[in-house]
Amino acid sequence: MFDISGYKEALSLEEAKSFLKENPDARIIAGGTDLLIEIRDGEHSGAQLLGISRIEEMNRIYKDAEDNVHIGPGVTFTQLEEDEIVGTLFPYLGKAGGTMGGPQIRNVATVGGNLCTGATSADSASMFLCLNAQLKLETADGQRTIPVTEFHQGPGQVDLNPGEILTDIIISRENYEGFGGKYIKFSQRNAMDIATLGCATMVKVKDGRFEELRLAYGVAAPTPVRCPSAEQTAVGLEVNVDSIEKIAAAALNDVKPRDSWRGSKIFREQLVQELAKRAIAKAAAAAGGGQDA
Ligand SMILES: Cc1cc2nc3c(=O)[nH]c(=O)nc-3n(C[C@H](O)[C@H](O)[C@H](O)COP(=O)(O)OP(=O)(O)OC[C@H]3O[C@@H](n4cnc5c(N)ncnc54)[C@H](O)[C@@H]3O)c2cc1C
Repeated sequence: MFDISGYKEALSLEEAKSFLKENPDARIIAGGTDLLIEIRDGEHSGAQLLGISRIEEMNRIYKDAEDNVHIGPGVTFTQLEEDEIVGTLFPYLGKAGGTMGGPQIRNVATVGGNLCTGATSADSASMFLCLNAQLKLETADGQRTIPVTEFHQGPGQVDLNPGEILTDIIISRENYEGFGGKYIKFSQRNAMDIATLGCATMVKVKDGRFEELRLAYGVAAPTPVRCPSAEQTAVGLEVNVDSIEKIAAAALNDVKPRDSWRGSKIFREQLVQELAKRAIAKAAAAAGGGQDA
């Protein structure tokens, strides 16, 4: 049923990195909720698997001395949703995580797997884009850190070289402090369904005006995308219904939705605007910009 040639369970990051150096074609497996389905469907035939879920340093969330938050890629969606640091500093990320799958999936599926699988529908991705998360990628021979905004390269494709492992998701203090945020997932039912469209936003309000706005979507393009036109449109506008409509309309310049059996292009374009309006109003209210604008 599962055509694999072996399974190695790493107990430390060092062990994982040296195993990947010796076996650069090995497939990393975290929760396995994407990978095992692919293997059962005949992909990665004869693959060697490297289990990483017992690497403790990859399974925690902590704040460093500069108040930057580090989220281990092995953190499950349940952990993310229940974490005190996330709940205090950017609760909208935990709530976004709470929209994915159902409880059983959230207990095993990891945020690292959700990013590395490269799906445009990944429910954590658009909020990580808004948070300007940095991704630390390591091999036995070195490391690099890249913005999550550059990680997704196409459907199912991410900037991950053979032998590389995502070891840290870093959110710096200036990227969460003072923001309100909101993620809205539109799907055909409330649980166990992939998004027809997902909309994430973060907003900073000063003197009743948008000081900064970040907007990102899943399933509005082949990869999760940020919306530079909408974000520039927002700056300096008074927080009110007219401004939010302008911002939501500008988002159409930033997306390229397509037809699929879950929803037509036209329906998705309507969702792009409607979800943005609702999410921005909520985020602005959370950031001190009045009652849902
Ligand atoms: C019933 C069901 C419902 C689902 N519902 C949703 C949903 O609503 N929303 C949603 O977004 N997703 C959903 N998914 C998809 C899936 O659960 C998520 O994408 C999940 O986050 C994947 O995480 P994982 O730990 O299981 O990854 P795995 O399957 O273990 O790995 C996925 C990919 O990432 C790679 N990988 C994992 N960790 C690392 C790492 N640290 N470094 C480098 N590469 C790594 C693996 O090699 C593999 O290619 C669902 C899946 C199922 C089965």
